[in-house]
Amino acid sequence: MLTRFFTQQSNITQKSFRNVINLNINFNYSLSGLNKIRKLNFNNSKREEYSLKKETTVLHYSTSSKPIDKNHIQSLRKCWSCNDTIKSHKEFFCPICNKVQPPLEQFDIFYLFDIEPTFHIDQKDLSHRFKQLQRQLHPDLFEQSSDIEKQHSKQLSTSLNAAYNILRSPLQRAEYLLEQNGYSITDLNDVDEDLLAEVLEVRELIDDAQSNDELVNISNENKEKINQAINELEQLFSQQQYKKAQDKVVYLRYLTRIQEEIHYLIK
Ligand SMILES: [Zn+2]
Repeated sequence: MLTRFFTQQSNITQKSFRNVINLNINFNYSLSGLNKIRKLNFNNSKREEYSLKKETTVLHYSTSSKPIDKNHIQSLRKCWSCNDTIKSHKEFFCPICNKVQPPLEQFDIFYLFDIEPTFHIDQKDLSHRFKQLQRQLHPDLFEQSSDIEKQHSKQLSTSLNAAYNILRSPLQRAEYLLEQNGYSITDLNDVDEDLLAEVLEVRELIDDAQSNDELVNISNENKEKINQAINELEQLFSQQQYKKAQDKVVYLRYLTRIQEEIHYLIK
């Protein structure tokens, strides 16, 4: 299922959106297949479940290279109901008839939340902004509305959740920022050997762990590395050192996977 935040209007060329982020999120995330797995033994079956879970999780967003040009998106849309002009892609309601508007398929998630496109963000403030937006867009508010309004509010609300999750996750936020600045996060074949050795070592520790306590210890150490990597990313992004940030993101990605795996095993 492809989630579309904003449905692109027919009179707008693709090119005119070149500075706008295109976010395609695949929510095809299902654990139902996990129930079919036979329990072999505690750890093995859990590991199997985990690798299956990973395979069924697809989160993909592709972006163009530059931050959004806010002037560029003025007057892009007409209200589907009264044909009045919607001046900003952040306006969810028509200023004249107040009908909820269909989502565009391309947008900048920082702009959506009205925050600066930086790696370091105030999570409390973000949460506050998210709740404010949801207070306007939650599908429950449209129970008495027409089907088309219900549909728009559902799409907006779903995509808002997805955008919020990206901004909340340091890894996804970093990946998003890299793509926004023209650095691919998908074509990274050259993995640093030291990094690989470190990751393999931790994997071995996880495999050899005999108890939850041991796993918790590995997890705590890994968490420290994650925090360290996040701090370094804050520095690198603030200095616009994207190439170095890209390497650090690869590292953070490994650490995050390890953390998820341990979390799954010690549940
Ligand atoms: Zn209208």
